[in-house]
Amino acid sequence: MFVDTHMHLEPGDDVAGLSSRAIGAGVQHMVAVGGSDTMNSAALAAASEQPKLFSATVAFDRHVAETGGAGDVPALVERVRAMLDAPGVVAVGEIGLDYHYSPETANEQQALLGGQLELARERGLPVVVHSREAEADTLSMLRAQRRAWQHEYERLGVLHCFTGNADMAKELVAIGLFISFSGIVTFRNADSLREAAAVVPDEWLLIETDTPYLAPVPHRGKPNEPAYLSEVAKCLADVRGVSVEQIAEVTTANAKRLFHIHG
Ligand SMILES: [Zn+2]
Repeated sequence: MFVDTHMHLEPGDDVAGLSSRAIGAGVQHMVAVGGSDTMNSAALAAASEQPKLFSATVAFDRHVAETGGAGDVPALVERVRAMLDAPGVVAVGEIGLDYHYSPETANEQQALLGGQLELARERGLPVVVHSREAEADTLSMLRAQRRAWQHEYERLGVLHCFTGNADMAKELVAIGLFISFSGIVTFRNADSLREAAAVVPDEWLLIETDTPYLAPVPHRGKPNEPAYLSEVAKCLADVRGVSVEQIAEVTTANAKRLFHIHG
C-alpha cells in the first residue's frame, strides 16, 4: 500500500474518480499539496471531507513571486498561518525556488520562501520544498532552517520531485530532508537520477506523482494521477534491487513519520 506524498487538486476536479482509481492501484493515502489560492482550497476541502484518504498542505509557492504577487510577504504568511489549524493540514508547502523561467525574481522568491520557513519553524511543521535550477540557494536556506530548527529532527521536510544527483541527495539527507522521487525517475534519459535513487538511504526515501504533472512511463503525455504511483515504486524497486512491496513498506512508513499521518 502506497502513500502519494505530493499531488495537486483544483476545485472542480473529479476527486471521487481519481480516488477510486488510486485505491484500486494500492494508494492508501494522498497528500494534497497547496501553493495557490485554488490549490489550497481544494486541498483543504479534500482533507476535511475524506480525512482517511487525504491530508493537506498549504502555502504560496514561487509562482506567486514570479507573477509579482509577493509584494507583501508578511500578509501572505498571515494568510497561510490562518489555514494551518484547518483539519488535516500536515505541512507548509509547497514552497521553494525556481529559477528556470524567471531568475530575475530570485529575491522575491527567497523572501516568500524565508517567511514561510519561519512560520513552519514556529509551528514545528515540516515543509514541502520545490527547487529547480536553484540548488545552491535552496540548500543555503534549508541549512539556515536546520540551524534554527528546535523540533524533531526528521520533521524538517521533503525535497519533492527530486531531480538532483547523488551528491545533492546526500547533502539534503545530512540536514534532515526526505528525498521524494516522481515519475521523472522513469524517464528514458534519467540515468543520473536513477543513480541517486539507488543510494538514498531507506529511512529518507519517499515517492510521489506530482499529479497532474509528469506522468511516468508508460503514461507519458497523459494527465498524471495518483493511480500511476506504482510505476515510480517499480522503478525504484528495480534500481535498488528490492521488491515493490519493500519500497511500499519503507516509503509508507516514512510518509507517516514525516507528516504524522495515522491509520
Ligand atoms: Zn507540486
